[in-house]
Amino acid sequence: MPFVIHGLPVSHGIAIGRAHLVSHALLEVDHLLIAPRHVEAEVIRLEDAAAKVRFELRALREASANVQSEVSAFVDLHTMLLDDPMLVSTACKLIRERRCNAEWALVQQMELIVDDFDNIDDPYLRERKADVIQVVERVLKALLGHPGHVTTRRGKDDGLDSIVVAHDLSPADTIHFKDSQVAGFVTDVGGATSHTAIVARSLGIPAVVGLRHIRHIARDDDIIIIDGARGVAIIDPDERVLEEYRLRRSAIELERTKLKRLKANRAATLDGIEISLQANIELPRDIPGVKDVYADGVGLFRTEFLFMNRDTLPNEEEQFEAYKAVAKAMGGKPVTIRTLDIGADKNLNSGGPRPETNPALGLRAIRYCLAEPQMFLTQLRALLRASLHGKIKILIPMLAHAHEVDASLAAIEQAKAQLRAEKIKFDEAIPVGGMIEIPAAALALGIFVKRLDFLSIGTNDLIQYTLAIDRTDEAVAHLYDPLHPAILRLISATIQAGIKAEIPVSVCGEMAGDKSFTRLLLGMGLQQFSMHPTQILEVKQEILRSNSADLALKVAKILKLEEPDKIREAVEKL
Ligand code: PEP
Ligand code: MG
Repeated sequence: MPFVIHGLPVSHGIAIGRAHLVSHALLEVDHLLIAPRHVEAEVIRLEDAAAKVRFELRALREASANVQSEVSAFVDLHTMLLDDPMLVSTACKLIRERRCNAEWALVQQMELIVDDFDNIDDPYLRERKADVIQVVERVLKALLGHPGHVTTRRGKDDGLDSIVVAHDLSPADTIHFKDSQVAGFVTDVGGATSHTAIVARSLGIPAVVGLRHIRHIARDDDIIIIDGARGVAIIDPDERVLEEYRLRRSAIELERTKLKRLKANRAATLDGIEISLQANIELPRDIPGVKDVYADGVGLFRTEFLFMNRDTLPNEEEQFEAYKAVAKAMGGKPVTIRTLDIGADKNLNSGGPRPETNPALGLRAIRYCLAEPQMFLTQLRALLRASLHGKIKILIPMLAHAHEVDASLAAIEQAKAQLRAEKIKFDEAIPVGGMIEIPAAALALGIFVKRLDFLSIGTNDLIQYTLAIDRTDEAVAHLYDPLHPAILRLISATIQAGIKAEIPVSVCGEMAGDKSFTRLLLGMGLQQFSMHPTQILEVKQEILRSNSADLALKVAKILKLEEPDKIREAVEKL
């Protein structure tokens, strides 16, 4: 029976593939099919691993017997959970019935148990979920020390790509999909402008998030269709539905091919205003996609992706090579490199400096860099050195205070002074700009235009912080509204402040790549857009059909409106 689930559309396109269920990153295990003759040995492997953990726990209990009663209490609890027949015994049953490998059987059983915990009212008992996960992690470690005789990799070999089905995915997980057979992904949670969604758009793979229970409804190897534009996932479709989606996928491909004709056209409005269309990238490997659509430059290089999925920070040399590669490849076109924006949903493997209760409001981006001056200096030195190989601009994220701009400029000066002393050349006039993505910055633009060479509006965070909605939380996704009058006024005020101060302003948040907002932004006077390379041609098509003088008059009227319905209607009419 086909099953249709609705979620949030985050990355357009149609993907058809077989489900590959993934778990919590820590508990990510292989999904394997055990040969019938090895099934009993696999059961013994799991029982032996559990016995080993039982022994470890007993030793821990004895060592802590008279010392810390808290330690012995948790050891007792973990032993009790380990011995509960719901865990290991039921997992052994799964090995026999479904011929799963021991690790996968254990993780599947754990997820069932953990879900039940989520429904418990008592907060103490609910928190015991973490204990179940810890016990399972211990058994998994014991199992990994004793690999079994696994034979075949689970999954049908019918040429279909895989569709990753997960409760949640981090941006760091998602960035790996580029080099794999992943055709798309679906998750239970997440928001449309989370960095996970942004990475999906940047890789050009269809994705739907916020599907709530798909991780439990789908089973490994089920055929799944993702309709990325409508935010729909269809599990186990019948042949008629499959055929319809295959046709739609071909139609989309045809549309993309037609758009390619616009590659070499200049992006200019009907009344002759030239618009710069630049690209957002995460890693140097994204450059071929940027060149393929003839982008006018890189408007946002999110350098934090160089720092993720690894245990040590990239040193100056490694960063220099990455920035130089992008600058050289763009051959004199501008390359705007943003300094590290770590924090909130993008984390280093080492975590942050400390656990935070509200990371989006915590030590993120420039706040983190200023708190780690050595790390910041390393990045700035690498950026300055690379500036000799192209047209690099430095962009500082998440500014709110004048003193943050001053401290950032002082750090850049310090890096320059060091390089001069070492007789290393760099672009002395390297432009330094700031992201306007905190409402306080958009309401006090004087501070920024006076000190900086350019501004870039990060609409994703500007909307998150202005409307007080977590961009990664699907429960508040319906409140995420780029057309809220407050947002329109902040964006417009920033563009106007730039025009008045004669410094360039771009928009590099997701609004820039959404063609339904192109005319609105043109009417506000925007002349520089930065987006995923895959969106550039669609936006260019809109620009080629627009008259900016005409739009300016209409948008001025929209900015006076208060009622959401009226605003929406007027923007659609543009
Ligand atoms: C933004 O906030 O709009 C932006 C471009 O930065 P990021 O999405 O990386 O936070
Ligand atoms: Mg941002």
